[in-house]
Amino acid sequence: MHELSLAMNVREIVEEAAKANGSSCVREVNIVVGAFSSVVPDALEFAMDVAKKGSVFENAAINIRLEDTVVLCADCNSKTKVDDYFFRCANCGSGNVKVVAGDRMYVESIDIEK
Ligand SMILES: [Zn+2]
Repeated sequence: MHELSLAMNVREIVEEAAKANGSSCVREVNIVVGAFSSVVPDALEFAMDVAKKGSVFENAAINIRLEDTVVLCADCNSKTKVDDYFFRCANCGSGNVKVVAGDRMYVESIDIEK
């Protein structure tokens, strides 16, 4: 399950951020999971529970927010949301699109106690 290695990456990011702020207490970690990121939110939540043990954010709340997949159309230049794996522009129907959101998982913000 690759969610565990992702969770360990998050742990590194959070520990680095806490260290940079001279804090050893993290209140909240906000993670964004894109609809097309191949990350399973439930599995990530479980993996985060494992990854935070013994870390600076052991008692922090882990918030996972889902992000829609958005494509940018090269033909009409509009950004539209896609609901399935058929990546095409919802405005003009063109398949000449690029995914601009929702294809990855990332740490959006970390609430660190000063
Ligand atoms: Zn278009």
